[in-house]
Formats: sequence, structure tokens, C-alpha cells
Amino acid sequence: MAKKFHEPLRTCVGCRIKAAQQELLRLQCLDGELTAFSGSGRSFYICQNCLEDGKKLTKALMRQCKSPQKEKFMNKLKEIITDDRKS
Ligand SMILES: [Zn+2]
Repeated sequence: MAKKFHEPLRTCVGCRIKAAQQELLRLQCLDGELTAFSGSGRSFYICQNCLEDGKKLTKALMRQCKSPQKEKFMNKLKEIITDDRKS
């Protein structure tokens, strides 16, 4: 019997692709501020492709956070990714 490997799939808010949770970056918007997922509340996922596609990314972030401050989001996102790689 082949070993079945069940992983919950999550949807990227940028391109709607479905991928395993570990392949996506989990983010959250709190009061219009982009943050890494804090452990509770509403969150969303972004895939690697969208992280490299600035246009898709900013559109998705603005939609999720309901705010047009894309430069702020992009700066914050860089921080989150850097922190993520440190840990
Ligand atoms: Zn995507």
C-alpha cells in the first residue's frame, strides 16, 4: 500500500492557486496594517510566485487589507520575510 500523505491545501489570495500550507506565506491584516499571522483571527496566504510578482502582490494585499497603502505593505512584507528566514 502506498503511503497516503494528506496535507491541507490553502489558496493563495493573489492567483488562487492551491498549495500546501508550508509553501505559502501566511499573513494577516489588523486594522489595515499588514502583519505576520499572530495565531488568531482572519488570515490569508500568498504563494512564492505572487511574492515575486509585485503587481499581483500589491493588488492582493490592497484587497485583503482594504487599504491602498501598497508601499507600506511592501516594506512590511520585506520585514516579515526577513524575520521568517532568520527564525
Ligand atoms: Zn499566488
